[in-house]
Amino acid sequence: MWTLNNHFSCDHCGLFAVLYDSYTPFGCSSYDPPEPLDPTYICKKCSKILERKWIKRFKEERWKLGDWRKSWAEINAAKKCNISWVNSGGVGNLQDKSNFADSYQYIPTKEYKRLSKLPYYGYCTECKAENKNAYCSNPECDNSFNKVNEARAKLEGA
Ligand SMILES: [Zn+2]
Ligand SMILES: [Zn+2]
Repeated sequence: MWTLNNHFSCDHCGLFAVLYDSYTPFGCSSYDPPEPLDPTYICKKCSKILERKWIKRFKEERWKLGDWRKSWAEINAAKKCNISWVNSGGVGNLQDKSNFADSYQYIPTKEYKRLSKLPYYGYCTECKAENKNAYCSNPECDNSFNKVNEARAKLEGA
């Protein structure tokens, strides 16, 4: 945090220092929707401590979760542990579950590279069916081309 006269004090150790790193955790456990909490600002010493903490989480506790806005500590730790973060939308091809990884988790970098080379189609947030041309491919779903346009026509007619 910054004091009134613009001095920075570390959110972890509380000492006056130079701002070195920051992170923003997800505000909820389900990530749906991901609502971030307030950012935390830390000094270099605490960033190094945090990096070791992340390495321990990844290696010993097998964490797959990460922060919404990542610290250098987390990014460096993930690199050292050979894992990669899957962003919103996931990675891979939904036609086969073994060729797809869900969003907001770490997976082994080797697996990430394999999946990211596959064609990606994305999926509907309602029914999880595959999206095609920005609409849900399930004709029964409210996000399908026909249902969306029906709803639109109804709105315009009202
Ligand atoms: Zn500190
Ligand atoms: Zn759908």
